[in-house]
Amino acid sequence: MDYTFTEEQEMIRQSVREFAERKIAPIALKMEETKEIPMDIVKGMAELGIIAPTASPDYGGVGFDAVTCTIVAEELARADPTGSIPVFYLIQASWGHVLNKYGTHECKSEVFPRVTKGDWFLGIATTESDAGSDLGSTRTRITPTEKGYVVNGEKMYISGVREAYNRGGGHVTIAKQTPELGTRGMTLFYLPLQVKGITPTYVDDLGREGISTGGFTIDNVEIPKHYLIGEENKGFYIVHEGYEFARGLISVICASAGLKSLENGMNYIKQRKCFGTPIGKFEGIQFKLAEHYTKLSMLKDMAYKAMHTFDLEQKGKAKRFEVSKAIAMAKLFAQEWACAAIDDVMQWQGAFGYTKECPDQCAWRAVRSFGWAEGSKEVMRIIVGRELLGREFIPYR
Ligand SMILES: Cc1cc2nc3c(=O)[nH]c(=O)nc-3n(C[C@H](O)[C@H](O)[C@H](O)COP(=O)(O)OP(=O)(O)OC[C@H]3O[C@@H](n4cnc5c(N)ncnc54)[C@H](O)[C@@H]3O)c2cc1C
Repeated sequence: MDYTFTEEQEMIRQSVREFAERKIAPIALKMEETKEIPMDIVKGMAELGIIAPTASPDYGGVGFDAVTCTIVAEELARADPTGSIPVFYLIQASWGHVLNKYGTHECKSEVFPRVTKGDWFLGIATTESDAGSDLGSTRTRITPTEKGYVVNGEKMYISGVREAYNRGGGHVTIAKQTPELGTRGMTLFYLPLQVKGITPTYVDDLGREGISTGGFTIDNVEIPKHYLIGEENKGFYIVHEGYEFARGLISVICASAGLKSLENGMNYIKQRKCFGTPIGKFEGIQFKLAEHYTKLSMLKDMAYKAMHTFDLEQKGKAKRFEVSKAIAMAKLFAQEWACAAIDDVMQWQGAFGYTKECPDQCAWRAVRSFGWAEGSKEVMRIIVGRELLGREFIPYR
């Protein structure tokens, strides 16, 4: 086993950390009010090559593998307790991977040069009001026409709607093409949002407020043939590859946000005195620190191992089921362990921990979203159970 990163990966970590500490950390909490990521940060990320870094250099990307993308996610999560920039990053890295691998040359030539420069946003739209964990209940329809396809339906709880609708770009989207085939009749495609027939709506989330969450109705939207991603009716299988990439990044983001919060907590408990003693001397506090630190370090290792397995599978050196299991195991406890650690850090800070000035409460609200986003923690348990017992043990089949 070789647990070391390459020299190039260490350099990437260093440059992202330097950028994140210098540019992101000082403005992070302001995004809670402005509700957007400042454009100079977006442009700075583009210069570093970390917007959709999975896109190939032929289309303006840098072609990072999954482990290198994980390093970037870890560093961004340390610097931004609002979680907005990590989310902005993880979505475009993950769905950039899918578009890069399965998209057509015409679509990639149109989308990637703009996305990687930070001018457009690339998101994912599978969820609907009646279809989240159960993608088979999707109601949106895609119908082939002479020129391409026509799409009708509605998507809900989608990240980056405002970014794509106002600035440009679109979402990797799933719809039913052959409804009688269920999940075997679903097609994946690129759906631009700045087109006639798209009407956005927005929701007011608890956290990660620098990036929007919303939905959109899709009313007779015509798209060209080259927006197809992969093959018709194979979307259900392809979409899971993007979800796995995203879940691996989310796992490291949870670990990193939790560990950063523990650092804040350590600084506090070393200096805050109660009953004449720094509270960090009390075992009731110290033992919790040790437990959270151990769990989050395990989580970080699991996330890297899972993404390493992802990279191996891309080279034909690991099996698909090994990736699904490793990634689901990493995400399964990610949100709960990170939120539990952050919650204790808030507790240690007494009443200040309950104020909006405390960055940890902000991190808690951001991390909490990962109990659902890109696949709920219950769905992660279903995947691990399925991979251990076999598909015939999925209870609702
Ligand atoms: C902040 C945020 C951003 C998001 N961004 C996006 C996005 O960009 N694109 C996108 O497509 N979606 C996005 N989502 C949606 C997310 O993917 C869904 O919330 C998730 O898949 C769960 O779907 P649901 O909310 O419809 O819950 P449901 O599927 O209705 O599930 C309800 C609850 O039941 C549980 N449950 C379901 N089945 C079982 C079972 N068999 N056993 C035990 N428990 C079960 C679920 O885990 C959940 O807790 C986002 C969500 C959030 C919170």
